[in-house]
Amino acid sequence: AKAAGKDRAVMFDPRLRQEQIDRVRMVERLRAGLANDEFTVHYQPIVDLRDGRIAAVEALARWIPPGSDPIGPDCFIPAAEDSGLIIELGERVLRRACADAAAWHRGHGVALTVNVSPRQLADPAFAAKARRAVADSGLPARALTLEITEGVLVNAGTQADQALSHLATLRGDGIRVAIDDFGTGYSSLAYLRDLPIDTLKIDKSFMPADPADLRQKALVRAVVDLARSLDLTTVAEGVETPHHADLLRELGCDRGQGYLFARPAPAARVTALLAADQAA
Ligand code: C2E
Ligand code: CA
Ligand code: CA
Ligand code: CA
Repeated sequence: AKAAGKDRAVMFDPRLRQEQIDRVRMVERLRAGLANDEFTVHYQPIVDLRDGRIAAVEALARWIPPGSDPIGPDCFIPAAEDSGLIIELGERVLRRACADAAAWHRGHGVALTVNVSPRQLADPAFAAKARRAVADSGLPARALTLEITEGVLVNAGTQADQALSHLATLRGDGIRVAIDDFGTGYSSLAYLRDLPIDTLKIDKSFMPADPADLRQKALVRAVVDLARSLDLTTVAEGVETPHHADLLRELGCDRGQGYLFARPAPAARVTALLAADQAA
C-alpha cells in the first residue's frame, strides 16, 4: 500500500505534469521548426596544437525560431532524441555540414566532425543516408569524422550491433569515428581497445580549473597517455585558457577545441577565419 501511495504521489505531482506538457510542446515546436526549416549549423574550429592551425571544424546544430530567442542544443537535442525527430534533424545537419565543409576542405584541407545520436545509429537506413550525404557533397569520406558517445557501442544488444554494423560500413568508405565526451560515460578500457574508433575527444570536465592542481593535471595526463597508447588521435574539448593549451601540448595531446581558439560560428564566419588562418 505504501508503494502504491508513492506511485500516486508521483503521478499527480503538478511539477511533473507541467514537465510533461512542456515536453509535448517542445516536440510540437520541433516538428514545426523542421517543417519551417528553422535549423542552421554553426561550426567550431578544432586546432592542431603543434602549429596552431585549424585542422577541422565540429558541426553544431542551432535553432533560432523566428521572433524568439535561440533554443540551446542541450534543450532541443534531448527532445529530438526522445521523439525520434533527431533522425530527420541529424540528416539535415549532416547534409548541410558536408556541403559547407566540402569547400573548406578543397581550399584549406580542413576536415569535418558531425555529432551522431544513438537514435540515428539505431536507424537501419543510417549508413546509406550518411554515405549519400557525403557523396552528394563532394567532401572526401576521409575528411569526415562521426562523433558518437561510447554508451552506444558498449551496451551489448541489437542496438549496439546495428551501430557497429553502420560504423563498419562507413569506416570501409574511409569515414572516421570519434568517441565524444570521453571519460564521462562507461570508459570500459577493454572495450575501447576493440571498438572501431579513430579518435578520443576528452571531455571538457577534465580541463583543470586551477593551473596549480597537480591531481587534475595527472588525470589529464592519464587520459592522454591512454589514448596515445591505443594509437588514437586525441582531441581535448573545453580549452579555455592558455594554461590549458600549454598543458595539453606538454602532454602530447594532438588537437584542442574551445573558447580560447574560437567559439562556434556561422559558416560565413568560418570561411573568413580560414582565409585569415591560411594567410597567417
Ligand atoms: P558536444 O558534442 O560535446 O559539443 C561541444 C559543446 O561544448 C558545444 O555546445 C560547444 O559550444 C561547447 N563548447 C565549445 N568550446 C567550449 C569551451 O571552451 N568551454 C565550454 N564550457 N563549452 C565549450 P553546444 O553547441 O551547446 O552543444 C551542446 C551539445 O548538444 C553537444 O555537445 C552535442 O552533444 C549536442 N549537439 C549539438 N549539435 C548536435 C547535432 O547536430 N546532433 C546531435 N546528435 N547532437 C548535437
Ligand atoms: Ca561533439
Ligand atoms: Ca563533447
Ligand atoms: Ca556533450
